[in-house]
Amino acid sequence: MADFHGVFRYLATLALMLTMSGAASAEQVFSFDATPGKLPKNVVPVHYTIALAPGFETLALPGVELVDIEVREPTARITLNAVNTTFASVSIDDEAQFAVVTLDAAAETATFTFPQPLTVGVHKLRIAFEARINKFGTGLFTVDYPTDTGVKRLISSKLEPSDARRIFPCWDEPAFKAVFALEVTVPRNLLAVGNMPVVREQPFGPDLKQVAFAPTPKMSTYLFVLTVGELERITADVDGVTIGVVATKGKAAKGQFALDSAVKLLAWFNDYFGVKYPLPKLDLIAVPGGFGGAMENWGGITFFESRLLFDPTTNADTARRPIFGIIAHEMAHQWFGDLVTMAWWDNLWLNEGFATWMATKASEQFFPQWQSWLNGYGQKQFALSLDARRTSHPIQQQVASESEAMVAFDAITYNKGQALIRMLENYLGENVFREGIRRYMAAHAYGNTTTADLWQALENVAHKPVTGIAASFTEQDGVPLILAETSCSGDTQRLALRQERFVVAPRAAAALPPRNWQVPIAFGPPQAKSPDVVLLQGATEIAAGSCGEAIKVNLGDIGYYRVEYGPASRAALAKSLALLSPEDRVNFLADAWAMVAAGRAEPSSWLALIEALKPDDSRSVWDQVITTMGALNRLSRDRAERPALQSYARARLRRVFDRLGWDGSGSGDDDTTLLRGSLIRTLGEFGDEEILAEAKRRFAGFLQDPKSLPNALRDPVTHLVGITADSATYDTLLGLARKSTVTSERLRYFFAAASARNADLAHATLALTLTDEVPGTIVTGMINSVASSGEQPDLAWDFVQKNFDALLARQGPAFRDQFVANLMTNFNDEAHAAELTAFAPAQATSGGRVMTARALETIAIAADLKARALPAVDAWIKAQNK
Ligand SMILES: [Zn+2]
Repeated sequence: MADFHGVFRYLATLALMLTMSGAASAEQVFSFDATPGKLPKNVVPVHYTIALAPGFETLALPGVELVDIEVREPTARITLNAVNTTFASVSIDDEAQFAVVTLDAAAETATFTFPQPLTVGVHKLRIAFEARINKFGTGLFTVDYPTDTGVKRLISSKLEPSDARRIFPCWDEPAFKAVFALEVTVPRNLLAVGNMPVVREQPFGPDLKQVAFAPTPKMSTYLFVLTVGELERITADVDGVTIGVVATKGKAAKGQFALDSAVKLLAWFNDYFGVKYPLPKLDLIAVPGGFGGAMENWGGITFFESRLLFDPTTNADTARRPIFGIIAHEMAHQWFGDLVTMAWWDNLWLNEGFATWMATKASEQFFPQWQSWLNGYGQKQFALSLDARRTSHPIQQQVASESEAMVAFDAITYNKGQALIRMLENYLGENVFREGIRRYMAAHAYGNTTTADLWQALENVAHKPVTGIAASFTEQDGVPLILAETSCSGDTQRLALRQERFVVAPRAAAALPPRNWQVPIAFGPPQAKSPDVVLLQGATEIAAGSCGEAIKVNLGDIGYYRVEYGPASRAALAKSLALLSPEDRVNFLADAWAMVAAGRAEPSSWLALIEALKPDDSRSVWDQVITTMGALNRLSRDRAERPALQSYARARLRRVFDRLGWDGSGSGDDDTTLLRGSLIRTLGEFGDEEILAEAKRRFAGFLQDPKSLPNALRDPVTHLVGITADSATYDTLLGLARKSTVTSERLRYFFAAASARNADLAHATLALTLTDEVPGTIVTGMINSVASSGEQPDLAWDFVQKNFDALLARQGPAFRDQFVANLMTNFNDEAHAAELTAFAPAQATSGGRVMTARALETIAIAADLKARALPAVDAWIKAQNK
């Protein structure tokens, strides 16, 4: 699953709070019987034949399924998963016995009790049932979307981690792999897409048809997919596989970039994994609502429409980058996740860390000019910042239940997982690592694994201590802090390295337990072609260049750790800043700011560095500055000193922008274009009157003639028009949102309107989120925009409290368990922290309590930074202005 730009933003700070004291203990390789989970393992499904007749209007989901089961020990009871399902009849072996059905709503199970025990061996279980279609993006759900000929409805599915049980009764845990043969009865004018190709289609009654799909290979339930609607498909064949892009009628042509990308990626992955993609077809399905990211269903990947379709007439050229990245992520899952599946959700990181890493690797492979590692540096930074806190968790974490599994989809799982895999690949070497992956795929195809299976495969090839290094990062939370200092002994320079645990905590917080890691450390002078690497276990001292020479630690920004330099080595590096590669400059700046966040350094240490940056430095370097300045600006929201901070930041960023200007030449798909957009947005937010006036002027021109505003400028210009909107402009933005049938455009206008800083307009936006007019998928995003971009967090919070029940009913449990706590991270004061603690619905579930704990820590850290760092920043700015 991939959500990292949309919904994931709000999921990002959530994770399980686990007490992981004590030493890491290496886990065992996969065994079905030892796999955690709730279902008894005495009965296992082998083959499901499922017939469904979804009611598009009634939202009823009647079905019949015939399951070949294997009874492993005699039993009269079968327990499987079901939610919101009624049972008409349950029988075994051609109605030889009928079962009594008992439901456990809390456990989401149904138990069938037969009069006589079933014997060991194969039996046929027949279940007639009725489930429900949802209006929010869970299980099977409806999406109502606008078209030129009115609102249409389609249905689609999203089942990870544990919602297949909302469609049909099943053993809904990933280790219970089985074959699925699906048949659906649907309106005759619609296209039905499943995991496998259609093998039979026949009319049924006057208006309906029955569509049967080929049986899947053995797979986990969460990878099942069904999408039905007025859809169309474009296709291409590669290596004997038909790749399709499926979209609502009239939109499939916008899937051409996605189709071309998938063709390239399939051939490349076939080679990389050493096992050919095993299904006859792979569809990429654009769904115009329901959920915000993408889901790797085997053979039928679903995407939120704007994450997949690319329209050169409305999208910026640079929009191809995230589209390619998310396709690569989901396609990597077709092997890593779908063909070989983690045994239980405690190893979710294995799926997600790997797919996230592979997406960046594939982008580097096919579009090296995008510099995806360099420009994606922020993903690791985000994980590092969360992982330095008390409420972090090991990437390999205990998951007691399905509801806990949902909160495991966070930035630590995805981004720390990615960083660890990158560090390991770099340590073992690209070819050795790939060979290990090939052996792992071949050995475990159609099966399940634990993390230990992967390390074993890599160790067998690499003959290096993979498990020790990896386990110290997967089984412990926290960030290594490498303390580095150079000294001179005769003519040679010595580099002393030791490690501590890097912690960011409010001053009043108790110390966190110490940790020890096995860390591969790359170091060398700024332009070293191949760095020296040392595997640090405790402390060490090594020769490093000649006396006084700058030595960069974490050379190439590949390692997952922070570095704090001693005074001598820091001074040498600061002098050599311009000689460092952009990767190393970004890493040096990010670590410098992290030391400020941790209370280990003064803000002036970072501010002095940015004074030394050149206006033509790389986008990633300036992005680090923009991100940090943005955080300071948010912390300053109600401070009298804010205008001085904004003026200081504008002066630094204007030097960069003035070099680029509003209108550039070039392909449009380059870093200059992206940096320009980001600077316009930031300068406008920081109150640059000239930029704001020009944005208004260009938007007015756009209304007259859309072609006058290049696609690449539409997002930043519309955003600035949004934050400064008066009511006439606000109405214009909403009018554009209502008129468009292109999802990415609708989002642009809705979010711009939601960013209005005028309080009356913020009220209007909040009221709008209760209507059907705003797509359900973006309601939480719009409320959050009122709080963040609109700078009206109190209005948003009041609104959420007053309308909580109505919003919960429309948005589903994630609104209660995740959104409320994340909304509160727009505050940085104790009073609001107390309000969150007192808000009962946010504490109703274990997931909600985890989220609340994380949000409270975020608020406390922000309050602390505000009190400690902002006065020092003020003093620096005053001194600069003298
Ligand atoms: Zn994923």
